[in-house]
Amino acid sequence: MNQELPRTADVVIIGGGVMGTSTAYHLARKGVRRVVLIEKEPFFGVMSTGRCAGGIRHQFSTEINIRFSLESIRMLERFPEEMDQDIDLRFVGYLFLLTHEEDVAAFRQNVALQHRLGVMTRWLTPEAIQQLIPQVNLEGVRAGTFYERDGLCDPSSVVQGYVKNARRLGAQLLTGVTATGIRKQGNRIVAVETSHGTIATPVVVNACGAWSPHIGRMAGVDIPIQPLRRQIVVTTPLPDIPPDFPFIIFFREALYFHREGEGILTGKSNPNETPGYKLEVDPEWELIHMEEAMYRLPLLEKAGLLSHWAGLYEVTPDAHPIMGRVPTVEGFYVVAGFSGHGFMHGPIAGLLMAEEIVDGRAHTIDISPFRYDRFLVGDLKPEYNVV
Ligand SMILES: Cc1cc2nc3c(=O)[nH]c(=O)nc-3n(C[C@H](O)[C@H](O)[C@H](O)COP(=O)(O)OP(=O)(O)OC[C@H]3O[C@@H](n4cnc5c(N)ncnc54)[C@H](O)[C@@H]3O)c2cc1C
Repeated sequence: MNQELPRTADVVIIGGGVMGTSTAYHLARKGVRRVVLIEKEPFFGVMSTGRCAGGIRHQFSTEINIRFSLESIRMLERFPEEMDQDIDLRFVGYLFLLTHEEDVAAFRQNVALQHRLGVMTRWLTPEAIQQLIPQVNLEGVRAGTFYERDGLCDPSSVVQGYVKNARRLGAQLLTGVTATGIRKQGNRIVAVETSHGTIATPVVVNACGAWSPHIGRMAGVDIPIQPLRRQIVVTTPLPDIPPDFPFIIFFREALYFHREGEGILTGKSNPNETPGYKLEVDPEWELIHMEEAMYRLPLLEKAGLLSHWAGLYEVTPDAHPIMGRVPTVEGFYVVAGFSGHGFMHGPIAGLLMAEEIVDGRAHTIDISPFRYDRFLVGDLKPEYNVV
């Protein structure tokens, strides 16, 4: 930490990934004067946010996720001008490839919902897909869906933009400070204890992603989020991959590719991964992943390994995030559990959290389906398009 810890705040945000930094910016922009964000790592955005694939898409199965994407992606389009920060936004499209009949049926319904909300996803035959991506082995592919306003964006630049502009508006964002406890009087938040001292505050925002259950326990709230390891490999340059190569996902196989620099970034979710804070690459899974990746994109045989890493998905029972105030503890708010697709929803999530705290209720989008209370009444409608 390179600054003294403030002793009091109007709001303390714990966690400096995309959720925390976006919330800090939007609170400061709404005029909250003493916003303090603490991040345990030496830099902002180096955990799930900095380890993600950078994909942004509208192709979801629930109305609320599609609405989140519509708002968030518009915000990302305005970002370079509003925040004076380039974010390498590229609309190359997402191409979902379907090899199972039940996914074809589910995606037909999803596409109908997307159309109703103005997201004009295209339904593609295997022949049309082959024309679009001749480099890919489409063995067993029955159909695909493509939306050209999906694409890619740089997560670190988005976080830096929020940090820079939140500070410009007077918020204090600190690295190297760990939240260690939460003090309450009765059921009301009064302070956050940290590795560097105590901050008196009536409001705490838990933006700790995969670590948010720890912060929940400090406040006496059970947060149903599990950390699940996911891995990525980036290759050396492959000149045969065109600049407009889409973000391709073999849906049932949970295998994906997109162009990264002049090479390929690829990931494949391990269905047998067990929950845990595992941040080292599992070499056995990487072997299985790369064998399948080369089968689907034979060009990969010509590439070398540039880098690889593991990160954590922050998974809830219905793959939907937890957002807003927690009714049992006054002053305790959560924005976490985006279940592996949170980077793209960071912009709108931060705005909605600022509305929830300052205006009393999030109003740009109704966040009822994401509220903590749903677990108390067992009202879960899962997102289908999870990779
Ligand atoms: C391999 C992989 C690929 C992904 N691909 C995509 C994608 O293509 N598109 C997409 O939209 N999403 C993707 N995601 C998901 C996305 O990364 C997350 O949903 C999103 O980044 C979550 O942001 P966050 O701010 O909640 O969490 P984080 O970025 O993890 O931030 C939480 C922060 O809290 C801090 N913290 C924890 N405990 C404490 C404490 N006690 N005190 C202080 N600070 C603390 C952590 O250090 C961390 O920096 C991917 C994730 C992974 C792992």
